[in-house]
Amino acid sequence: MFNSDKNFRRFENKIWLSSPTMHGDELKYVTEAYETNWMSTVGENINEVERLIAGKVGVRYAVALSAGTASLHLAVKLAGEVMYGQHEIGKGALRQQRIFCSDVTFGATVNPVVYEGGIPVFIDSERDTWNMDPVALDKAFEVYPEVKVIVVAHLYGTPGKIDEIRSIATAHGAVIVEDAAESLGATYKGKQTGSFSNYGCISFNGNKIITGSSGGMFLTDSKADAEKVRKWSTQSREAAPWYQHEELGYNYRMSNVIAGVVRGQIPYLEEHVAQKKAIYMRYKEGLKDLPVQMNPYDEKNSEPNFWLSCMTIDKDAMCRQVRGEQESLYISEPGKSCPTEILEALAKYNAEGRPIWKPMHVQPIFRMNPFITREGNGRRKTTAHLDGGCVDVGMDIFQRGLCLPSDNKMTAAEQNQVIGIIRSCFM
Ligand SMILES: *Cc1c(COP(=O)(O)O)cnc(C)c1O
Repeated sequence: MFNSDKNFRRFENKIWLSSPTMHGDELKYVTEAYETNWMSTVGENINEVERLIAGKVGVRYAVALSAGTASLHLAVKLAGEVMYGQHEIGKGALRQQRIFCSDVTFGATVNPVVYEGGIPVFIDSERDTWNMDPVALDKAFEVYPEVKVIVVAHLYGTPGKIDEIRSIATAHGAVIVEDAAESLGATYKGKQTGSFSNYGCISFNGNKIITGSSGGMFLTDSKADAEKVRKWSTQSREAAPWYQHEELGYNYRMSNVIAGVVRGQIPYLEEHVAQKKAIYMRYKEGLKDLPVQMNPYDEKNSEPNFWLSCMTIDKDAMCRQVRGEQESLYISEPGKSCPTEILEALAKYNAEGRPIWKPMHVQPIFRMNPFITREGNGRRKTTAHLDGGCVDVGMDIFQRGLCLPSDNKMTAAEQNQVIGIIRSCFM
């Protein structure tokens, strides 16, 4: 129960979940673009960010795009054409095929599947990293052996069990689209996320670990794939003297101005990761005697980028909380709390937290889509409440979890007060 007698002071400057952190070089490269008049989707900044990111992630090619979502769209389209062959123009490369997708993630991971006419089949999460459960994925292939494409995200900067997922995919002749939008800089067994499949996607959205204010990138080792995506992203012009089109085109290329911001940010990726890690570790220490757990990761095999620090409340320390489609209610109880109460307490003092991504299988838009857990066909609960653990892993994390203020400009003193506010919720 939140103890409001504790006199916390309201943060004068809002403590953000994760806001852009600029360093100065960004302005230099943007100004350069301005002064040389490369105010377009061509220019030195674009060439440089493609070269630098490909080098950092360890892939041969990177194609700079307008958003992470654009990169996921073209990656999914490409995977569809490769696996299902050329399609009738405008009909969608996935043509009503079922596609296995992460369940607990941002909607942008799975929407592109629908853009291309596919049917997302959601795969439950596992407890160890909150990402796609290889055991559930295996189950899913028993139910739908014909599936040829898997879209998998690394949640909150924590690498999923991508090795296991990859061997299952290979065994079934499927390809992976790897959504590393949140995990740039994170490694699994020493290898960067985004480099585990032929179709990697990252994002430079404003709240990501480094940002261009917007932007994204498609990553691959295949020259032909990189060229295809680059062509699609610039309206699919053929090499003719006029505008000649054989394929559907998109206006998805990154602007050279945005690329200037990204270029200025790239040298600071490691610094941001170190700051985020320090934040995660301070939370872990400051909350260790509470009935809560930090978002877990594979300490032996992975090094997350710690983009967002998250926690879950132990089952027996949850006060009653009911979440409907649009609103939430809870009943305060001494010694217990719930995500809604903690988020409200943080907001009261001008600090921003966020619920865990609501699982896709309980989103109204996807209410008819299949959902697979370790047990097989998943049970679906649209109005979620805690009722003795019959919920799936994803829903359980959503119910008991929240994202904590993780801004890398938050000072240790500020974070101590955030920790104090969380602690006072368990009074
Ligand atoms: C941010 C994000 C995206 C989309 O990236 P944009 O650049 O905002 O389009 C996709 N997937 C995940 C998991 C994300 O967090």
